[in-house]
Parts: sequence; structure tokens; C-alpha cells
Amino acid sequence: MRYTKQEIIKIADEEDVEFIRLQFTDLFGTLKNVAITRSQLEKALDNKCMFDGSSIEGFARIEESDMYLYPDLDTFEILPFRPHQGKVARLICDVYKTDGTPYESDPRYVLKKVLKEAEDMGYTFNVGPECEFFLFHTDDNGCPTTITHENASYFDLAPTDLGENARRDMVLNLEDLGFEIEASHHEVAPAQHEIDFKYDEALKTADNIMTFKLTVKTIAKRHGLYASFMPKPKYGVCGSGMHTNMSLFKEGKNIFADENDERGLSKEAYSFIAGIMEHMRSISAITNPIVNSYKRLVPGYEAPTYIAWSATNRSPLVRVPAARGVGTRVELRCPDCAANPYLTLAVCLAAGLDGIKRGLVPKESVQQDIYSMTSKERDEAGIENLPKNLYEAVKEMKKSSFVKDVLGKETFDKYVYAKESEWMEYTSQVTDWEINKYLDRI
Ligand code: GLU
Ligand code: MG
Ligand code: MG
Repeated sequence: MRYTKQEIIKIADEEDVEFIRLQFTDLFGTLKNVAITRSQLEKALDNKCMFDGSSIEGFARIEESDMYLYPDLDTFEILPFRPHQGKVARLICDVYKTDGTPYESDPRYVLKKVLKEAEDMGYTFNVGPECEFFLFHTDDNGCPTTITHENASYFDLAPTDLGENARRDMVLNLEDLGFEIEASHHEVAPAQHEIDFKYDEALKTADNIMTFKLTVKTIAKRHGLYASFMPKPKYGVCGSGMHTNMSLFKEGKNIFADENDERGLSKEAYSFIAGIMEHMRSISAITNPIVNSYKRLVPGYEAPTYIAWSATNRSPLVRVPAARGVGTRVELRCPDCAANPYLTLAVCLAAGLDGIKRGLVPKESVQQDIYSMTSKERDEAGIENLPKNLYEAVKEMKKSSFVKDVLGKETFDKYVYAKESEWMEYTSQVTDWEINKYLDRI
């Protein structure tokens, strides 16, 4: 454990902390918080802070209105981008019911349940994400647009790269928050960026993703820009993904590595890949949760569309990067930053563990570019599509007792209901594309 309650109180006083944000995440991945003042800190640390859950997305039920926030003491951080006098700290919390048991639809709890299962098998689940985002201009009212003046591309430098100073500031703030930043760079599309931080245990990584997004958005605003993690904000250029690098450790050793295998991968690594691939269609509504997610998963923009894996080729859904030994990992390339990171890591781990428990073996890896194969060749190789839209993804999820078990029935039902409603709302819209395409022709 990093801190005791007494240590947190001591740091808060020494550092002149005036406000403490008690944070949690709703079912659909939005960060929420209630701020308390220093005078309430002892009460909060004693798990006595209550909130009204009935207005929180995915928590909403009358009988769930009174809930408690139990701070995770390890997550105490002072927010470097808030004032330096009368500072603001945050604690990430677990959500509990009035009877003192965890709230089943708290995404952090869903992840913790699967992590417990991994732990019982002797595993630690390590995850490193690659979050991509756009930095757009705001309009005269301060509202985000999809406008950018820059024209930079992959790995470009300033002055072409107009996000350089914002990115520098983001990295420094993230470092103050304890992140180890491994790389930051301009991405392929104009105004698109990526900042990579070091892998950690899954719960920490999911917390980190939430903190990362908050920090990036806050610093972008300071630079007069708007940071959007929307998967495909612009037609015709690459979208933003959240490639998810995963490995299992046992007694401090990465068990995905095996020197004796031709590819340097262990039986567990192969089974983990097979488990992910088997469940992929039914977990897509979690890893790619919004209508717009599927606009990114189209050919031609470095995003996957087929369920296949490779140790050499970048086009498939699952890639095994070249690093071996402690860095041996499986990279899942479909998730995007619209996903709830807790639920995403929960379903990915559960799928991988299912593969291990059942000793699954993945289909042959693909060496050639899947996009250059004919559909007959893909069929013969047994290569399936990812769901083509949210409707298809939810339909697959609905059929899956596996996903229902991971989420718990109530959470599963709420999720499916919300996503079906989102799809219904979308399909009844008349879009600009339709007007442009049809109005003057028909
Ligand atoms: N932006 C691409 C995507 O949508 C990924 C580019 C990369 O390989 O980093 O997934
Ligand atoms: Mg990238
Ligand atoms: Mg990657």
C-alpha cells in the first residue's frame, strides 16, 4: 500500500490541499466527481461520503439513490494543473451500497472481479494502452470544432506540428501525476497526436486512462485547443484508437514468453490470443461502444476490420510486437478511447483467461495483408469480420452468456438497453450525407 489514512491527511495539510475530488466512473466511461473540502477529508477516508446515484448514467434506479464512495488510498494525487495554493487532490473511489457491499454496476468492481479470478490462477494482468486524440480549434463561443490549421503527419516536428507545446505541457503534467511517459508524437492525421505511458497492473492502468484523458483535455484547453478522443471525428483521415497491450505475469515473470517456441511465445500466450479472438465479436460493444466507433473500423486507415492475428503484420486485429522477455505482449488494436477502460480490460482479460482455461489454440496467423485477400480467400482462411456497426455489436453481445457473466446480469441488461437505444436514436436521424446524396436527385 502506498499511503495510510494518516499519511494522506499529513500530506494534505503540508501541501495546503483545500479541495479533494472523490472520483468514480459511470457505466459508459465518463469520469465523475464530487469535491469535498479539507474539513471533510477524515470523513471521506472513513468511507462515510454519500452521493445520490440516481442521476449517474448506468447507476440510475430509485433504490440505488444512496451510495457511498470508498476512496482507494493508493490513488491519492495532487492535481498539478489546479492552483498551487489551496491545492486540489483526488482520490479514485469504489462505489458501495448502503448495506456495505460493492455496487455491482461500478465498472471498477467489474474489473476487480475478473482480476480476482486471474489472481486465483496466480496471474497479474499488465496492460499498456496507446491513446490517440485530436487537438482541434474551438469556435468563438469556445465550443469544440473539427477545424485545424495544421497539416502535419506521422512523427512530424514543429513548426508543422502545431500541437508541440500543448503536448509538452501534457507530458510534464502527466509526469507530475506519476506517469512514466514512454513516447509522444504527432500521429498520421493532421492535428492527431499520441502519448504513450508505461504499462502497469490493469486496475492502475484503467485509472490512469481516466486520469490521462482528464489531463490531456485540461491542458489542451489551456492552449486554446480542444482535445477529442472521439474515434473518428473526420471522414477521410485516420481515426483514433486505443491499442491495448496485454501480458500476464506469474511470480514477477512474464509468462507470455517462451524461448523454445519458434515465435518465442508460450502456450498461455497462444491460448490468450485464441480466447480474445473467439469472444471478439461479443465484446466489441464494450471495446468499441459508440455509433462512431465503427466509422473508424473501416479499411484503409490502419484500423482493424477482420478478426485475425499476426506476429509480423500490422493489419490484423491482434498483433504480437517484436519485443520478447519482459516486454512480450499481445496488442489488441480495435479498442478506442470511447470505451470504458475498466469494462474493456475486464472483458479482454476474461476472454484471454477463458482461452487459457479451455486450452484454445488460435487459427493460423496471417502473414499477408488481409486487405489484399479476396473475400473467398478470407472465407477459406476462416477470417471473420469485426461487427460492422453498433447494432451488429450489441446483437452479438446480447447472445453472449460469457459477457453476461463478466458484467453481471443487471449491468449487462442496462448496458445492452442503453446501446440499443443509442442505435435507435442514430438510425432515425437524417444525416447531411443523405441530404447531399439524395435530395436533388430524387
Ligand atoms: N490511428 C490508427 C487506428 O485507428 C492506429 C495507428 C497506429 O498504428 O498507431 O487504430
Ligand atoms: Mg498510434
Ligand atoms: Mg500500436
